[in-house]
Amino acid sequence: MLLHDERCAIVEFGRKLISAQLTTGSGGNLSIINRKENLIAIKPTGVDYLIMKPEDIVVVNPDGKVVDGDLLPSSEIRFHLALMKHRLDINAVVHTHQVYATTIACMGWELPAVHYLIGYSGNKVPLAPYATFGTQELSENIVKSIGNYNACLMANHGIVAVGVDISSAFATVEELELVSRLYYQTKCMGNPLILSDGEMMIIGERFKTYGQQKH
Ligand code: 13P
Ligand code: ZN
Repeated sequence: MLLHDERCAIVEFGRKLISAQLTTGSGGNLSIINRKENLIAIKPTGVDYLIMKPEDIVVVNPDGKVVDGDLLPSSEIRFHLALMKHRLDINAVVHTHQVYATTIACMGWELPAVHYLIGYSGNKVPLAPYATFGTQELSENIVKSIGNYNACLMANHGIVAVGVDISSAFATVEELELVSRLYYQTKCMGNPLILSDGEMMIIGERFKTYGQQKH
């Protein structure tokens, strides 16, 4: 089986999306690129995460041609491949309809630095204009709006995050759900305080050494 480890990781992190309540049913999608093989493992379209098996994961080349797997790839394959082409620093993409981030996206708002964990994306989470799911227009909107950020809200749809690996892209959508909820709650109460770009630069540096360091 091609890309065995990447396929298993997609199954594992799909289940984590369900247990972390970041998606339901078959909503959202995940992909991982193996840059040595120049192949991408992507979730099949419309398959429930809880019944998905490694052999159900579809392996495609950078043009989207299926090279292994019997199922159709995710309907959002366009933006997954476009992000991997334009962002050579990333190897995984996660897209969800998580409730609080999507609430902000349905308002047509960006997510500002209401909490330092916005640093998982940068100094904010930008917003991509609405386009129909699965379209080239949506893919172009996302690539343009995400720039060098690690996440982007999708108007009237959800959120997408990129990362060096699948666990980092997953952590980004998970932490940004917390920040989105805090933004929603603080907006309900009044005008939240927003961290400055200067402080977010400091946070970005601190994040580089946060956690257990490899020796
Ligand atoms: P797929 O099941 O085709 O991956 O689509 C789910 C989705 O979130 C579309 O935006
Ligand atoms: Zn979606």
